Amino acid sequence: MQGKIIKGIAGFYYIDTPSGKLYECRAKGIFRQQKIKPLVGDDVIMDVVSEDDATGNVSEVLPRKNELIRPPVANVDQALIIFAIVHPNPSYNLLDRFLIMMKQQNLPVVICFNKQDIAGEEEQRELEETYEKCGYKVLFISVANGNGIDELKSLLKGKTTVLAGPSGVGKSSLINLLHPKAQMETGELSRKIERGKNTTRHSELFHVEGLGPDTYIMDTPGFTSLYLKDVTIRDLPLYYPEFEMYEPECRFGGCSHITEPDCGVKKAVMEGHISHIRYENYKVLYEDLKNAKPVY
Ligand code: GDP
Ligand code: ZN
Repeated sequence: MQGKIIKGIAGFYYIDTPSGKLYECRAKGIFRQQKIKPLVGDDVIMDVVSEDDATGNVSEVLPRKNELIRPPVANVDQALIIFAIVHPNPSYNLLDRFLIMMKQQNLPVVICFNKQDIAGEEEQRELEETYEKCGYKVLFISVANGNGIDELKSLLKGKTTVLAGPSGVGKSSLINLLHPKAQMETGELSRKIERGKNTTRHSELFHVEGLGPDTYIMDTPGFTSLYLKDVTIRDLPLYYPEFEMYEPECRFGGCSHITEPDCGVKKAVMEGHISHIRYENYKVLYEDLKNAKPVY
């Protein structure tokens, strides 16, 4: 039978199958045969050990579309980066770090701002302008009153989407809305296998209701604060796609857009073509990278 790994804990894999039945599986022999460790998001072939106990064994990991390093998951189609418009106000720096991390891993991104019900139009317009200008899809939603949820669902349909964002912005509320059984299942699983002792949370896929069998959203706890790995200071401008069209106007090739005179990017910021918010973040990240100790 084919299924999808939605969660892995302590040597057990939880496999979602087309009927909706969830099996608790081992993966005996997989590593020896295929030399890979099964990941959350993997499509697998499993043999049922007991229908009554809903247990089985994973016998094969099917070829992966892709594999993310952070978080370590397979077959992700896109990322949904979620912040609140207000309460809490977005950390632009963290948002840029998420954007850089997704771009590094070639994941398409949708930026979603929640709590539209309590935000003013002014705040919304600023965010929209800032991020649409650099080519991102920006969506405003309210989990509380349902605004924008249909549009969000149409973006999720048929895909596996990894959810990233700081705490307090409404991630759990959104997952509960998209997958009303989430809380209950998490409780059941932890009773069954960990007896509630271990409170460590793990990456987990949730099937989104009503959008067909292939729609999943992935919760990735601990995915809230980031440092930039494998980004060199020279590469940093590549992560700011809106700089590109002004770089030919820089006097120096390889301009860092920080201290050099006659910089096309700085000029564009001054003239309002590039967002101040984005440029200020660029400077902060530039300083961070300049002062970072190399990681070996
Ligand atoms: P998480 O930490 O990202 O998982 O955030 P939660 O889902 O726990 O939500 C944090 C707080 O924001 C809770 O008090 C929610 O009730 C509230 N919240 C979530 N979505 C909305 C929304 O759309 N509007 C408003 N006003 N509050 C929301
Ligand atoms: Zn420049």
